[in-house]
Amino acid sequence: MPARLLDGRAMAADLRTELTHVAAARAAELGHPAGLAIVRVGADPASAVYTRRLSRTAEEVGVAAQTVALPITCTEARLRETLGQLNANPTVQGILMQLPLPPRLSQRAVAESIDPRKDVDGISLGSSGSLFLRLPTFVPSTCAAVLELLDRGGIALAGRHVVIVGASNVVGKPLAFMLLRRDATVTVCHIATRNLAAWTRQAEVLIVAAGRSALVTGEMVRPGATVIDVGINVGEHGEIVGDVEQSSVTPVAGVLSPVPGGVGPLTSLMLLKQCVNGPQLLEGESPA
Ligand code: NAD
Repeated sequence: MPARLLDGRAMAADLRTELTHVAAARAAELGHPAGLAIVRVGADPASAVYTRRLSRTAEEVGVAAQTVALPITCTEARLRETLGQLNANPTVQGILMQLPLPPRLSQRAVAESIDPRKDVDGISLGSSGSLFLRLPTFVPSTCAAVLELLDRGGIALAGRHVVIVGASNVVGKPLAFMLLRRDATVTVCHIATRNLAAWTRQAEVLIVAAGRSALVTGEMVRPGATVIDVGINVGEHGEIVGDVEQSSVTPVAGVLSPVPGGVGPLTSLMLLKQCVNGPQLLEGESPA
């Protein structure tokens, strides 16, 4: 039997409706819609498209998005100052720093400058530390999207062996700690891992976030496993493809999240969910 597909688009439609209600309740509490500041440096066209889409989705669910566009010549001091002003602005509930930064600007400046109480993409030192310590915190939205997809898809995690391919600061590593919080047994593979297939074949849940098209093929998957494809790559004919070869994996896996239409549609919504749920998330005992 071919794998059951996890329909991220349908889940996103439900989540969007749910979020609209939560955002309205939060706006009533605040006296204004929750505010999201999207900060970007330079004029990268892909980043501009992403910002426009995110702003549109924000407005649709009832979050007031503003874009703070800094010139490519922006100094680290100016970036820190801008983030400091947003930290102090009471109409801003969430700050998203678009990555990657130009090489002149350090990740440290951003990680140190965003107030963890507004760090809705979970990249600050405070958020990373809290995640490590199992304290309530914001988390990177892609990781939150993966867990949302698994939860809505009815995939159990406690006690199960999850293998993650990819160990980046924004996907693989934080996801490993989020899965530990859910009592999974976690293995993290990366570019220097020897014999990748020997690890992926052990996975009851396999999560691939490496940014390499067709990295995972059918013979690398344990029969019946759940396979989550986080990758976004451009295929031979300009189409969007993931890191998992769907044609060979579908007959082997039990459950598969496709690209496009899996994790992707949930990512921006999870960022907005964290933006409107902020206080509840940060004060709660068991965050996402
Ligand atoms: P990254 O380049 O920062 O990290 C890639 C990780 O994969 C590294 O840890 C690297 O060691 C590992 N890796 C690379 N090639 C490998 C190989 N051949 N074998 C084993 N490990 C390998 O990338 P990232 O920012 O973590 O993103 C990963 C992928 O997820 C990209 O395709 C990106 O576009 C996608 N992504 C998707 C979303 C979404 O919303 N769906 C969000 C963020 C990133």
